[in-house]
Amino acid sequence: MNADPLELQKFSELAHRWWDPTSEFRPLHEINPLRLEWINARAPLAGKNVIDIGCGGGILSESMARKGATVTGIDLGEKALKVADLHSLESGVQVRYKLIAAEDMAAQEAGQYDVVTCMEMLEHVPDPAAIVRACAALVKPGGQVFFSTLNRNPKSYLFAVIGAEYILRMLPKGTHDYEKFITPSELSQFIRSAGLEVQGFKGMGYNPLTKIYSLNDDTSVNYLVAARRPLA
Ligand code: SAH
Repeated sequence: MNADPLELQKFSELAHRWWDPTSEFRPLHEINPLRLEWINARAPLAGKNVIDIGCGGGILSESMARKGATVTGIDLGEKALKVADLHSLESGVQVRYKLIAAEDMAAQEAGQYDVVTCMEMLEHVPDPAAIVRACAALVKPGGQVFFSTLNRNPKSYLFAVIGAEYILRMLPKGTHDYEKFITPSELSQFIRSAGLEVQGFKGMGYNPLTKIYSLNDDTSVNYLVAARRPLA
């Protein structure tokens, strides 16, 4: 199984706080409107069949459903999925959540999705290329796939590990393992090897003084990438 039990456990222990915007998940709440609008601008979500891989408590999944998409969210964290289900009941925003590995879902529902999202997840799995291949299998020809992860270089170590976990204490220590960070060229390689085309990169920045996140062209720390499955 392409999953690290310790990684799943880390998220499980915090799962009850997933929807608390002041909790460890605050960064996900704050970046969500930015990534949602970026996705929606490239792939208007209304009426689309969407799958969110590594959905956790469902912050992105629910927001895409609010835009009018039919959303499936999958994860291997049982607690996070329970929280996601409860939140969906409370909010009245319907999402189909499933505890299943991306690779197994790809075998069951290949080519069924207009849009596949996989955010802040690749840097937590043993074999990210296999997740990218599963995403490529899930998307329809002509459909789009969106990833986000952390770049690997001295600056990202300083900002994403030392800054976020030790200085600003935005994330619990040990949230991110530098060795597992993925450079844009590595991710591009995974994407192309999976038969997808890279469409574009976007950087995501955080200003610790204003505490504001923004999208920009600096992919040196957090970044997003858009890919497309060719029609033929
Ligand atoms: N994508 C969500 C959550 C990111 S947190 C968001 O951006 O809002 C990372 C998530 O990846 C957690 O929910 C964790 O349980 C999940 N995860 C880690 N390893 C996984 C694996 N091998 N398969 C599926 N999900 C995994």
